Amino acid sequence: MAEPITAPRGTYDLLPDQSYKWHYIENILTSICKSFGYSEIRTPTFEYTEVFSRGLGESTDIVGKEMYTMLDKSGRSITLRPEGTANTMRALIQHGLLKGLLPVRVYYISSCFRYEKPQSGRYREHHQIGVELMGSHYPDADSEVIKLAYHALRELGIKNTRLEINSLGCRECRAEYIKSLKDYFKQNIHLMCPTCNERLERNPLRILDCKSEICKEIASKSPDILSFICEPCSEHFGLLKEQLSDAGIEFIINPRIVRGQDYYSRTVFEFVHEGAGAQGTVCGGGRYDRLVEYLGSDPCPGIGFGMGLERVLLIMEAEGIEIPVPEGPEIFIAHIGENSQKIAANLVFELQKSGIYALYDINRRGLKAQLKFADKVSSKRYLVIGDSELESGKATIRDMKTKEETTIDLNIGSLIAIL
Ligand SMILES: [Zn+2]
Ligand SMILES: [Zn+2]
Repeated sequence: MAEPITAPRGTYDLLPDQSYKWHYIENILTSICKSFGYSEIRTPTFEYTEVFSRGLGESTDIVGKEMYTMLDKSGRSITLRPEGTANTMRALIQHGLLKGLLPVRVYYISSCFRYEKPQSGRYREHHQIGVELMGSHYPDADSEVIKLAYHALRELGIKNTRLEINSLGCRECRAEYIKSLKDYFKQNIHLMCPTCNERLERNPLRILDCKSEICKEIASKSPDILSFICEPCSEHFGLLKEQLSDAGIEFIINPRIVRGQDYYSRTVFEFVHEGAGAQGTVCGGGRYDRLVEYLGSDPCPGIGFGMGLERVLLIMEAEGIEIPVPEGPEIFIAHIGENSQKIAANLVFELQKSGIYALYDINRRGLKAQLKFADKVSSKRYLVIGDSELESGKATIRDMKTKEETTIDLNIGSLIAIL
């Protein structure tokens, strides 16, 4: 026998006894998106590599190190999507949606691929829900997507999250900030990790994301972006804070949030979970007013977020949030003998067509084994059809738990009436 094959490193299989949890989460999230006016968009799993190298910026860790990029058979460079925004913008531009009625509101639930060191809760293929709101530069758009994420986390039952917001300013005021950031880090760079040494010239903002203790320590005393942002950026940020307060949403200002992509400007935000067992960012997003220009479109402001579904699930488990286990069949129809088997098969098909979850034994086992199976799949009731039932035209439905018995006429109408 050949060796069994496992799933690739950093990936996992979602098995039937777990998939209901994903349905539960996805149902809540999609219904919230709908009530906020967001429609689903589905884009290909892979894109031409330029979508991400231009959209995210060559200097980001994602583009530099983490993308699954390959040449296809015709020699074109293609990349499995490492995140959801740049590819969504590619689609909106391609189909002219940004030139139509604005704003445009879309959401997606999709997998993202990153070649990272696998660790607990981090996968090379992970899943996220993302929303993108295009066509408003007003802070109303920023507060809308934050409200959506806030409401989504609450509806999932997640309690211990903290909203952190920041403004990265615009192109003009950020340039000033980056200059002073560079000057500051230059003085300490000999103490910092090799990656940060690389980042200093390439992308000093990324240093603020470094996980190394010494780098974190040095970064904590770095200049504060909020003291650099220009008047219009500052006013935008002020209005956002006001709108969040008006909505009763608590937040803290964290000037160290930069997010991993170059395309962000002005508002960036994260929902951070603090509870035991699942710390870190569960949802992150921000404004990307220039992204579509990198992708060859006329300017159009946009803001959105991504929420990692693996993290959501981990947090829900850490917080002890119960996800309802799906119910078993309404009825299991056991059969003794060939004639009964035919009747059982037909009755079950009729029930299934009426939208009732019903099963019978397709392995023609003995009665005992059939009932054992019915119990295992948590059937609520069972019915046995044998020669005497066929003769009398009556059958007894038994409740698996209470053992309560109800005798009915053996036909589909009486069955449906009782279920
Ligand atoms: Zn500015
Ligand atoms: Zn570092």
